[in-house]
Amino acid sequence: MKFQHFILLGLQTLVAFSALGGSAYSLVWLERQQSDLPMPNELFWDETAPLVVVDAGHGGHDGGAVANGVIEKNLSLDIARGVKRELEAAGLRVIMTRSGDSFLSLDERAALAGKHQASAFVSVHLNTEGEGSEAEGIETYFAESRPLSARQRVVEGADSDHNLVDSADFAEAVQRTVCTVAHAGNRGTKARDYAVVARASCPAVLVECGFLTNLNEAARLKKADYRDLLAEGIARGVVLFLQTRSVPAKLMAGS
Ligand SMILES: [Zn+2]
Repeated sequence: MKFQHFILLGLQTLVAFSALGGSAYSLVWLERQQSDLPMPNELFWDETAPLVVVDAGHGGHDGGAVANGVIEKNLSLDIARGVKRELEAAGLRVIMTRSGDSFLSLDERAALAGKHQASAFVSVHLNTEGEGSEAEGIETYFAESRPLSARQRVVEGADSDHNLVDSADFAEAVQRTVCTVAHAGNRGTKARDYAVVARASCPAVLVECGFLTNLNEAARLKKADYRDLLAEGIARGVVLFLQTRSVPAKLMAGS
């Protein structure tokens, strides 16, 4: 991950607050928020690194949401490409459900997680509300129902709730890092059985990266720099989640 970005972000925050006449207290608070994020360990993985499926929402004839001059499928692809770039820089292996403007069904997307024995699945979308809505910020969804693979593990006598618990933790990690890195409004994590995450065979989340219907947020989303921050924030959440999960296994292997 790019530590320079964080230094740059700190400077930008300082400049922005000076310009706004922000109080010293606010600055301390913001700095504390940044430093609360643990730094991912860049040398954590070897060639057996976990594989992550990154899903750019919509595509092809399915444009997704359209508002304020932006089409969801284009932004989701751009952010997803950024997530792939950041995850690979952190040493993870990555498969994208689509790398261009093509259409895949939700089942086809989710199936890639099983096919490649992925450790995590992250789907990137943009949000909408009714015309003139003020809704703004980021929210991350995880599935409440168990995917088929988890049900199969019940039969095999393994830990049946593992997948559900993991997806909730995964959503928390991603939501926290993406909101902090992008300085975006935090609308929290939510349980909802969206097909693409409910049917994935591994911990899976769907990130709604902001509201196209909100004029201010749409303007930010149109900027490549902001989309890069979203990608970096999502990737940091994925890395931290996978590193936390890997620690017990690594310790066991080393003992
Ligand atoms: Zn969408």
